[in-house]
Amino acid sequence: MMIILRPGTTEDKIAQLDEFVRKTGVEVQRIQGQDTTILGLSGDTSRIDPGMFDIFECVERTVKVAEPYKKANRKYHPQNTVVKAGNVEIGGNKIVVMAGPCSVESEAQVLSVARDCKRSGAAVLRGGAFKPRSSPYAFQGLGLDGLEMLKVAGRKTGMPIVSEIMSTEYIEQFERDVDIIQVGARNMQNFVLLRELSHIHKPILLKRGLAATVEELLMAAEYIMAGGNDQVILCERGIRTFETYTRNTLDLSVVPVLKRQSHLPVVVDPSHGTGLWWMVEPMSKAAIAAGADGLIIEVHNDPPHAKCDGQQSLTPMVFDKLMGSLRMIAQVEGRDI
Ligand code: PEP
Ligand code: MN
Repeated sequence: MMIILRPGTTEDKIAQLDEFVRKTGVEVQRIQGQDTTILGLSGDTSRIDPGMFDIFECVERTVKVAEPYKKANRKYHPQNTVVKAGNVEIGGNKIVVMAGPCSVESEAQVLSVARDCKRSGAAVLRGGAFKPRSSPYAFQGLGLDGLEMLKVAGRKTGMPIVSEIMSTEYIEQFERDVDIIQVGARNMQNFVLLRELSHIHKPILLKRGLAATVEELLMAAEYIMAGGNDQVILCERGIRTFETYTRNTLDLSVVPVLKRQSHLPVVVDPSHGTGLWWMVEPMSKAAIAAGADGLIIEVHNDPPHAKCDGQQSLTPMVFDKLMGSLRMIAQVEGRDI
């Protein structure tokens, strides 16, 4: 961090500020230019709010040099993190495809979709039991009953399961029953939830918020890691822009950014990212070409009658075809799928 002083600041004002800064526990180096004086702060500046120096009239501005996320930062952890969920590794050479219905609707439905997805090569079964719906009148998910159905389908097909948690109330249940706990876009900055999830030892799939910057996403990951849970998977699922043709704007440029800034695995959700089933295949291919470690895709046995997100869900047949084309892209990228 650097504090840039106003031209003409007197020596006793600099000394006062210097003393104040040192009390925060960091080292201070003075850089003297012809007109400008800069105080360079070194050490652990992660707990310092740059705005706190603005109370000194002699401060022109404060500039952050290091990123505020430390544990999620590749700078301090150069090798890729590989997150393990059951027998599946996310973040290694193998691209992991997570697939399944948006919502668990019945035991038979989730089991039939699970079997189809597994046969086509999906490694993880997705399914929502607690649904964050925009309307309070829309289907809210089957709750704990849905979670149980997903668990049974996961066990019968031998696939680890991923499902969204919406409140701290069910953490124990999720920790026991779910292999990867999803934090949805709407809860990316639910800091109470993130803090609770930091104390457990289960992988967390952290989805990017609807309007979250890269730094905000990585700081949300930092919340989980700061409490001791370093098994975080980042997920790009589209952001809000001026464009309304697609449900969201899938920001694939964030994939290389996240891979550069962080050592955590990156997964892309082309289903919520576009909202259109026919865009899932091209965007999935592009995500792998951009360097994603995995995909999370909605598959439904009967999309026109789905209780949620039918328009962006693939039929098992289309999913099977997609997996075939992804194998070719993965091969070009030197990765397995
Ligand atoms: C989901 O995965 O079903 C979901 C609701 O995702 P998001 O939080 O990205 O909208
Ligand atoms: Mn959905």
